[in-house]
Amino acid sequence: MGGTSASRRATPLLVMTLVGALVGTAGCAGIGMFRQARESAAVPERPLSRPIDADLLRHRLVAQQPEWPTGRLPAGPGFRTVDCSRIKCVALTFDDGPGKYTARLLDILAAHNARATFFVIGRNITREARPHLVRMVAEGHEIGNHTWSHPDLTRLSPAKLAEEMAKTNRLVKAYTGTEPHTLRPPYGTTNARVAKEAKRQGLAQILWTIDTNDWQERKTDVVVKRVTAAKPGAIVLLHETAATTVAGVPKMLEYFNRQGYTYVTISELFGEQYLQPGEKYREHAGMIQ
Ligand SMILES: [Zn+2]
Repeated sequence: MGGTSASRRATPLLVMTLVGALVGTAGCAGIGMFRQARESAAVPERPLSRPIDADLLRHRLVAQQPEWPTGRLPAGPGFRTVDCSRIKCVALTFDDGPGKYTARLLDILAAHNARATFFVIGRNITREARPHLVRMVAEGHEIGNHTWSHPDLTRLSPAKLAEEMAKTNRLVKAYTGTEPHTLRPPYGTTNARVAKEAKRQGLAQILWTIDTNDWQERKTDVVVKRVTAAKPGAIVLLHETAATTVAGVPKMLEYFNRQGYTYVTISELFGEQYLQPGEKYREHAGMIQ
């Protein structure tokens, strides 16, 4: 990234860096960036296609300003606008972590340039697991909320229901700087009360298109076969707690690579603006043929 040493030297560049990041000129610095920022100001005003992503902006700033006072996350690739009605998308989702196979799974996904969504259980976010969460965000994955302790949400008191969602969101935000806006209700059980609370907390409910039943049927080949039956726009339910599943992920990715799929997070699958808190989602409507 050009100009990093210049930005490191000159603190006043921070403001220009901010301008640069806002107008999408990450990677430029010094006079060149200043000129570019001025030129951008001269062009007729055009509404931004989507609101500024604060997390992406922060990542860009961290990348350019080593002194930027944050948790010093590496620069993540950020949210992409992907039109899954035009290209073949698949959203792999891994539930019940973080756990002992998370690092291995992240390595496999990284080796295949694949993105996924991790629906994490709050109480699993131990001190040892925190770096995995940071890595998820840094490597372009999405973290979703899978409650604090994995209960059947439909059976909880209003206070407990609210707490199950809020505690996990708080913890994820504390360690990664990003707050989940998707919820996977444990066992897929939900009702109007759960929907209302999810809406109040800004969480869209994400179910699935393909249930691999991998937590129960621990046979790699069976799980791989079920996953590879996915059609474009599918949300695939997997569990990172099953060693047999993690062992099958390279095969799944090789299959999707051969078929020309794009790996998307849940938010990318729908486009962030289309995910409505409280609503339920099972799949993208599919490609326009
Ligand atoms: Zn679960």
